[in-house]
Amino acid sequence: MAGQGVQLIPSQEEIMQILKRTGAFREGHFVYPNGKHTAHYFQMPLAFRYYDTARVLAVALSRKFRVERDVASQLPKVAIISPSSGGIPVAFGVRDALSAEQIYWAEQETGKRMFRQYINQGEINPCIIVDDIIRSGHAIEETVELVKSLGAPIIGCGAIVRFTSAPDNVDGVPIKSLVEFDEHFFDTAAECVECKAGATEEHVRF
Ligand SMILES: [Zn+2]
Repeated sequence: MAGQGVQLIPSQEEIMQILKRTGAFREGHFVYPNGKHTAHYFQMPLAFRYYDTARVLAVALSRKFRVERDVASQLPKVAIISPSSGGIPVAFGVRDALSAEQIYWAEQETGKRMFRQYINQGEINPCIIVDDIIRSGHAIEETVELVKSLGAPIIGCGAIVRFTSAPDNVDGVPIKSLVEFDEHFFDTAAECVECKAGATEEHVRF
């Protein structure tokens, strides 16, 4: 542990235990909307439905930001930004732990990621973008573009879980995570190990 070293961050194994216990991490045979097959599925809101669990996860993630000089020097004039509804409880939890001033969240409107109307240029503090899970990184990348278009600098980025196939930084800002998960996707049923084993498949939404 760097810095003061008094605030411990739970290990990846401890975080995975929480995700398993709450049902947020599931093992089986899953088919994504894009047709890919996997043996694991994360449904993060299952962990965030319990206030105590949500708090443990958000506080742990916040500690990864607090040790960053660029973040620590600018608090409390910082905005916590969620790319989507899934990241909103993460954003509120991280805001609370850091005592940051602002929270924003983007939403998908007519296929485009945007903030609500009247969120104007110049009003947004330097930003930390947080999400519950980063699978492809597209949501984060779109949010980075959105924030930059509003003229706000990005000083941090992170999620509870990041797939190792996703980017590890946005515009040179490293993506922090509590779990780095090496997910293996099979492009087709013909390649899928679970299909070969005859396991019943569950169709999942993003
Ligand atoms: Zn399969």
